[in-house]
Amino acid sequence: PSEKISDQKKVPVKKPSQPAVFIPVDRLPEIQEARLKLPVLAEEQVIMEAVRENPCVVLCGETGSGKTTQVPQFLYEAGYASGSGIIGVTEPRRVAAVSMSHRVAKEMNLPTQVVSYQIRYEGNVTSDTKIKFMTDGVLLKEIQTDFLLQKYSVIIIDEAHERSVYTDILIGLLSRIVPLRNKKGLPMKLLVMSATLRVEDFTENRKLFPSPPPAIKVDARQFPVTIHFNKRTPLEDYTGEAFHKTCKIHRMLPPGGILVFLTGQAEVHSVCRRLRKAFPFRKGNTTEVDTSEATRKFKKSKQKKTVSLPRIDLDNYSALPVDEGDEDRQAGIGEEEEDEGSDLDLGDDPGDTEEKADPSIPLYVLPLYSLLAPEQQAKVFRPPPPGTRLCVVATNVAETSLTIPGIKYVVDCGRVKKRYYDRVTGVSSFKVSWTSQASANQRAGRAGRTEPGHCYRLYSSAVFGDFSQFSEAEITRRPVEDLVLQMKDLNIDKVVNFPFPTSPCAEALVAAEQLLISLGALKEPPHTGRVKDLERAKLSSPITPLGRAMASFPVAPRYAKMLALGKQQDCLPYVIAVVAAMTVREIFEELDRPAGSEDESSKLAQRRARLTQMRRLWAGQGASLLLGDLMVMLGAVGACEFAGCTPKFCEENGLRYKAMVEIRRLRGQLTNAVNAVCPEVGVFVDPKMTPPTESQVVCLRQIVLAGLGDHLARRVQEEEILDPKWKNGYKTPLLDEPVFIHPTSALFKTLPQFVVYQEVMETTKMYMRGVSAVDAEWVPQLLPQYCHFGSPLETPSPWFCSSTGTVKCQCSSTFCEYKVCVCPKLM
Ligand code: ADP
Ligand code: MG
Repeated sequence: PSEKISDQKKVPVKKPSQPAVFIPVDRLPEIQEARLKLPVLAEEQVIMEAVRENPCVVLCGETGSGKTTQVPQFLYEAGYASGSGIIGVTEPRRVAAVSMSHRVAKEMNLPTQVVSYQIRYEGNVTSDTKIKFMTDGVLLKEIQTDFLLQKYSVIIIDEAHERSVYTDILIGLLSRIVPLRNKKGLPMKLLVMSATLRVEDFTENRKLFPSPPPAIKVDARQFPVTIHFNKRTPLEDYTGEAFHKTCKIHRMLPPGGILVFLTGQAEVHSVCRRLRKAFPFRKGNTTEVDTSEATRKFKKSKQKKTVSLPRIDLDNYSALPVDEGDEDRQAGIGEEEEDEGSDLDLGDDPGDTEEKADPSIPLYVLPLYSLLAPEQQAKVFRPPPPGTRLCVVATNVAETSLTIPGIKYVVDCGRVKKRYYDRVTGVSSFKVSWTSQASANQRAGRAGRTEPGHCYRLYSSAVFGDFSQFSEAEITRRPVEDLVLQMKDLNIDKVVNFPFPTSPCAEALVAAEQLLISLGALKEPPHTGRVKDLERAKLSSPITPLGRAMASFPVAPRYAKMLALGKQQDCLPYVIAVVAAMTVREIFEELDRPAGSEDESSKLAQRRARLTQMRRLWAGQGASLLLGDLMVMLGAVGACEFAGCTPKFCEENGLRYKAMVEIRRLRGQLTNAVNAVCPEVGVFVDPKMTPPTESQVVCLRQIVLAGLGDHLARRVQEEEILDPKWKNGYKTPLLDEPVFIHPTSALFKTLPQFVVYQEVMETTKMYMRGVSAVDAEWVPQLLPQYCHFGSPLETPSPWFCSSTGTVKCQCSSTFCEYKVCVCPKLM
């Protein structure tokens, strides 16, 4: 175990345990020539021997050494896909899964029916597929239907160093699946591939691999990269700095591609625009698409009136049918994108006139980020037009997953955008923060692939010294309720004992089980009631039938609960649309962004007024208004679909086009998932759904409450306010500070007594997002698990126990003969 990785390269040669097969591949000569230059080719024999001799192998090597594109080909040629099993390769990013499958198909001269991909929404897998690239979420979902993954003879977990949550869990699961398969006489191999970063997390983790797997290191030919630090203290305006640095490189330095690292899609576009303006190359053409008066029509379509208002039945949920082998369930679960957050196009940036270009060599500027359309992404791999210099402006997707040819200069902003989540309060925020030293070095390395290169760091060496050494695994900084539910669905009851490469902290696991118990997805096992016993019991709660149904939906558990309840009152199409809209980030253009100039400010004010008007229209009035921001989402989805979901409609109405397209896809996927769980309902996607009736809106609000119950907030009454900061504030069980309804929310003027919210985001204040009003008497009936029952005097402390927070309950429970006092237990 104490051996260095490089010492483990020599694997003892024994006689092969499997007959040597060779499946010929007919590659084009130029491909063959290019691949012979890849460092991984030199190690083919060592790798294949290690794979033959060991059930699990770790392979690490510099980015660009050929791991992703070549190792699946080695396995194919050695016959691992010639029997009944195929070769599966997982990637943490959709971009990589798609582009790598295309690349390998091309290199092998095979059609995409044979070398295919599957990502959350799409794929081209056929019965002829031999090599399948997929996102890690897709494979995790497949394990749910076939724990032994019998269709695969080899699984390659690629980019393991990224430490994405699903990758981590897959490695944990496969460390158990592989021995099981081999015991059953169904041989299977696992290959974990990683950049040269902290491989010990996998090889030295005895809980994961009781006997250490061999680690093979591929030495890449890396040309020296000269690092240039900024002298100045880092600026706030690092995108401006990146722009200027790129201009300087282009004007003053010899030929060679430039790769610029920024943190998100909006920044990438802004810098691309400025560069294109400074070094014009060619004009882009835009297509004009007609839109109908969709919004008006959507609102105008007649609403039916019903007299009696319904109450949803919490026990009336969709149950899982016996047949679990439905293809639709292969879809990935909640894959993360690195480009999360505010991705709005902010219009032209001011101040891009001062850099005057040397027009002699045009700059060929390309953006690169996860959500970019595949055709656009593929452009970075092609040689730039003759006589131009390539400049790729990218997010950290270019850090390890994709290798762009011909890069000689790297401009590194040193930052990364991450979602932060406070486990205690549940407050999320997006923060751009410094990256790690390992990441910064990885970025620099991109410049030395084909010849010596230069990396320009837009920060000082002192700042670099303060970076953490490695980026922390994602699993340690996000809520884990979705993972816990997925694992329980795999009948892993004691999630604490799971062999995670890095374990989530125990608190996070307890919080997750607690939430899932509250949602009815897990059943609290019997316990003595002592605190310690309780904790232990809670960490081994088995899954319920409702939990199984919820686990089959590719959304977070709170939303899955809504889907499971959605069949009542024919609400499913609406629940699906609302859940899809809540799952996709940032569908609306931000209304409160600051203006750059006075002129812009008046234009912006006009636009703001118009968009606010539009959102008011979507929210409707009376009953539907109480569904609040979720009604606005529903209205936006309906209106957008009415218009045929065109970029023009979205632009005019302040919707993010990509988000709307994603919502459309997700609606289709959720519809399939619901039909699989509950075939008798038979929902279908009617893009142009009519608006919900009044009673359906009530039903929807209750369904939302049932899912978001732990996100309940009560408005603080005037007489309770001691500190003015609480004015118009809401109290939540977990926060000491007030939270607020955002001025752009549909319920900003209404200020209902009780609301549920999708999440709390901290910006200038703590704002609730996705707010929907709740009728007070629903709380004890629909969320008894969150309530203490008793008179206000008996439970003197907390929260709802002010006179105004006491609600009269009309249900028949014996608790409720008196006034009930509703105090969330979460305190
Ligand atoms: P690794 O997985 O070790 O980082 P890859 O297998 O991704 O390495 O890349 C090996 C080589 O193949 C790189 O030099 C890269 O530039 C090239 N390559 C990868 N994808 C493409 C593509 N779509 N078009 C052209 N070249 C590519
Ligand atoms: Mg790779």
